[in-house]
Amino acid sequence: MQTETAEMPKIALKAIRSEAGLSLAQAAEITGVSKAMLGQIERGESSPTLVTLWKLAKGFHLPLTAFLEGAATTPPAVNFPESIRFRTLFAFDPTLGSESFLITLTPGQTHISHPHDAGVVEDIFVTEGTLELQLADTQDGTWTRYSAGAAVRFAADQPHSYRNPTDSPTRFHNTMYYPRV
Ligand code: MN
Repeated sequence: MQTETAEMPKIALKAIRSEAGLSLAQAAEITGVSKAMLGQIERGESSPTLVTLWKLAKGFHLPLTAFLEGAATTPPAVNFPESIRFRTLFAFDPTLGSESFLITLTPGQTHISHPHDAGVVEDIFVTEGTLELQLADTQDGTWTRYSAGAAVRFAADQPHSYRNPTDSPTRFHNTMYYPRV
């Protein structure tokens, strides 16, 4: 397995918030992330979790890679605190309306994703190991298992969770599609 360096993500929150003309308080309101935390992220004092970053994306109605500095030129591999390993494969392209990531789950790891913006669709293609996926619309809490080579597409504007139930790493490609306004 190829090793690659990963770092904490550099987040372009301040530039995005300024461009939107929002105060910290207004940004807190639309994202559900506290004003204090937003300030810490902007000053580089705190690295957001992936869950927090998705809240920012949803609140500002932007793709995730809009917040990752350098994603458009040299997509970084980033490790989010207490979260999954994450590498941008393709930064958001407005003409395609999509962005793609390579995600690694360590053995036993579970990641809960909150609903994305309305109409967002996700594709998953498992490249290594076993992935289990739980969608909110399966009311009985069923986890569906996918092996390497499996592809699944689902409405991601609902709660959804990924987990690796095995003893070896799970890798999958994850493409996000944003509906055109
Ligand atoms: Mn998701």
